[in-house]
Amino acid sequence: MNKKDWIEGFAFLLSDKDAHPDLWKTRTLSQMKSWFRDQTAVESVLAIEDPVIYEYQELGAPEHPGDVAFGLSRVFPGKIGHEYYMTKGHFHNIIDTAEVYYGLSGHGILLIENEAGEWKTLPLEPGVASYVPKGYAHRSVNTGEEPLEFFYAFRADAGHNYGRIETTGFSHAVTDE
Ligand code: ZN
Repeated sequence: MNKKDWIEGFAFLLSDKDAHPDLWKTRTLSQMKSWFRDQTAVESVLAIEDPVIYEYQELGAPEHPGDVAFGLSRVFPGKIGHEYYMTKGHFHNIIDTAEVYYGLSGHGILLIENEAGEWKTLPLEPGVASYVPKGYAHRSVNTGEEPLEFFYAFRADAGHNYGRIETTGFSHAVTDE
């Protein structure tokens, strides 16, 4: 267990964070300031602290079309102004590649939007699998009061395009208003 062999196969205990701290990447507010809509709220939070907004695992899947990248993600509870903590969100570089999310704990939504600006939400709830169809940017939002944890899997060479979201954003923000 826990030896990643992408050729011969492997089983891996994802949930043991203490055993694999190196697999986790964190995103703090200072690393994603422009992603939130209320810049006054961003600055007032950062004057006090730089909270971790989310963290995710990278297992290092080979970036080949026949491999599958997967792992856990965790979005912490909280808001910046009225906007809930969320991931940056991205299109895949290979835009016609889908992704599967499976909710483990907490409560939230997946916000998805295509290049034409058509958007919708899917649930991120324990026991629920949500399918992000090809062609849709996707962002996870924690609308609950506890950490939102979920499993993800996608074609390993799909890549992430964050720049486009940073430039144009999603047309819809998830807030408590
Ligand atoms: Zn993705």
